[in-house]
Amino acid sequence: MKVLHTLAALRGFRKQAPHPVAFVPTMGALHAGHAALIDHARKLVSHRGTVLVSIFVNPTQFGPNEDFHKYPRTPDEDLSLCRNHGADAVFLPDAADIYETDASTFVEETFLSTNFCGASRPGHFRGVATVVVKLFNLTQPDIALFGEKDWQQLAVIRRIVRDLFLPIRIEPVPTVREPDGLALSSRNRYLTPAERAAAPAIYRALRDTARLASEGESSIPKLRLHLHSQLAAIPQATIDYAEIADAETLTIPNHLTRPARALVAVRFPSARLIDNYPILPPKSA
Ligand code: AMP
Repeated sequence: MKVLHTLAALRGFRKQAPHPVAFVPTMGALHAGHAALIDHARKLVSHRGTVLVSIFVNPTQFGPNEDFHKYPRTPDEDLSLCRNHGADAVFLPDAADIYETDASTFVEETFLSTNFCGASRPGHFRGVATVVVKLFNLTQPDIALFGEKDWQQLAVIRRIVRDLFLPIRIEPVPTVREPDGLALSSRNRYLTPAERAAAPAIYRALRDTARLASEGESSIPKLRLHLHSQLAAIPQATIDYAEIADAETLTIPNHLTRPARALVAVRFPSARLIDNYPILPPKSA
């Protein structure tokens, strides 16, 4: 496995990399969720193609009072995980290589990015969109893989690829969870033992709301209320947002007639966690 620290090293690697090239962008502190993306990439390109992972804690997607400086950085363990999952190369650039000090060009998606995490984290999706397009231009992948864990991010990236005619297939990968249902996240390590014990209730609230929908409740306001009341009962947690949106357009319907997605962000004193789950109308007999 090649470890590429510079743009020149990446470009050299990319020039001779066999197609198809599958790209997995990450911020490191890798866990089994990231591993699933790498495994899926390998499956898609087989042993003839190339699996390229990037590890970059992107400063522009963090707000001024967020956790950029304390975000976990575990490069040695990350490289082992990539190696064990058969990545061909890992790109670990310096921020100074990705952003010129006088950089003045940014990518902004202006519809799907406005609500949910976009509302609670101003500038977040502009940072994500900008770095993802930069990384796409540098790595020139045929396929790029993103986790469903970050549902809004996935929707934003699909939209950018569509709107800017980027010749890249976006491949979603289902959320990997702990046995108790908590979605794996690099930020879970911030949780205190008591918060960690309470956190799986987020998943239970999502599933319970999905069950209500599957049993025939089609009023989105009622489903939303149910979700809120379940989340509000979690000890130490406050709801940042909890909404049921159309799974693709992320607009909020009145009635459940098409596949929807429950999207939630919950703040514990030590960490803000996000999760999402499909909310589907009952199958017609
Ligand atoms: P991050 O390092 O948090 O920026 O995540 C890098 C990629 O891994 C993104 O596409 C995430 O959606 C994905 N990812 C993070 N956690 C999970 C998870 N628990 N299951 C599946 N994919 C995940």
